[in-house]
Amino acid sequence: MIPARALPLGKSIKSGSHSQRLFSTSLRRDATWGFIGLGRMGYPMAKNLRAKIPASDTLIVHDVNEQAMRQFVDEAKTASTGPVEFTDSARTVAEKSLNIITSLPQPVHVRHVFHSILKPGPLPQLEQERLFIDTSTIDPVTSKEVAYAVQAPNQGRFVDAPMSGGVVAAEAGTLSFMFGASSKTGALVDRVREILALMGKKAWHLGEQGTGVSGKLANNYILAINNIAVAEAMNLGIRWGLDPKTLADMINASTGRCWPSEVNNPVPGVIEKSPASRDYEGGFGIGLMRKDLKLAIDAAQESGAPLELAATARGLYEAVEDIYPGKDFSIVYKYLSDISRR
Ligand code: NAD
Repeated sequence: MIPARALPLGKSIKSGSHSQRLFSTSLRRDATWGFIGLGRMGYPMAKNLRAKIPASDTLIVHDVNEQAMRQFVDEAKTASTGPVEFTDSARTVAEKSLNIITSLPQPVHVRHVFHSILKPGPLPQLEQERLFIDTSTIDPVTSKEVAYAVQAPNQGRFVDAPMSGGVVAAEAGTLSFMFGASSKTGALVDRVREILALMGKKAWHLGEQGTGVSGKLANNYILAINNIAVAEAMNLGIRWGLDPKTLADMINASTGRCWPSEVNNPVPGVIEKSPASRDYEGGFGIGLMRKDLKLAIDAAQESGAPLELAATARGLYEAVEDIYPGKDFSIVYKYLSDISRR
């Protein structure tokens, strides 16, 4: 059982269209947890995990970046939240841990990590079935192949649970997860929900394994297109002489309203705390948007679904990233407004 501070009674987390109460039924005491990938998202997620699991549990972290591991262990010692170890081997994490979370950049890294976990042969048996939760945004084909590689030889369960909310939500422990896991028994889904609740506030169970990454790519395809549409429309309105803030307020009370218009408006000064208002620093990197769009296009081709706007959007993101690498993806607006002024 997880202590009440970790999962306050009555805390709810969404599943499909239903919101359910969480009861800590499936997590063991004195368990060992693994976390692989201490990047911009993984580091704060692992920190929240360590703070919320029982003090008697152990967390083992792994990253190819040794400095990130050392910093993590030092910070955890200062915070005195409970035992933390690091290892230079993903296999060692998997051998010792019951629940293993991965947060890695691209499909190739997920393949690499699971190859190094599985290649040496069968993992030692634990009292309960091992659970791998991959929170990386990758394509459904890779996710299903890795799940098969884990599950076919009975090395544990593999669940895809990509996330939404960015670094701010990762730090605050308020991420939204969308996950794919077999619901044949129900116990697996409950266990996944309990674990995700340690790092986020919502978890959507979308169906069988692989549906989490499919859902995430569908969402981020909309985001990619909406971001361009808002940048184009704001640029157009401003060229017609409209006041940017008034135009944004009108759109946000009308049918054009969407996350890029309302929360991440691309015009500097329209939203005080948006990346656009701090020279497009922070936020959702244009490289990640480009990666997610490519994954969505590949997955759509694989399933035969047309994406009429994808090629144009992809070309634009490539052109913009070449000029503004590392900036928030709303920098598309600056690129378009600079062209209009030429
Ligand atoms: P990141 O590049 O900051 O971190 C990835 C970490 O993985 C790095 O610390 C890197 O050293 C480590 N790593 C790479 N290869 C490894 C290997 N073989 N073994 C062990 N560690 C390895 O990426 P991020 O921004 O934290 O994103 C992680 C995932 O979350 C990505 O799939 C991303 O698309 C997704 N995501 C990111 C955001 C965001 O705003 N940053 C939002 C939602 C989803």
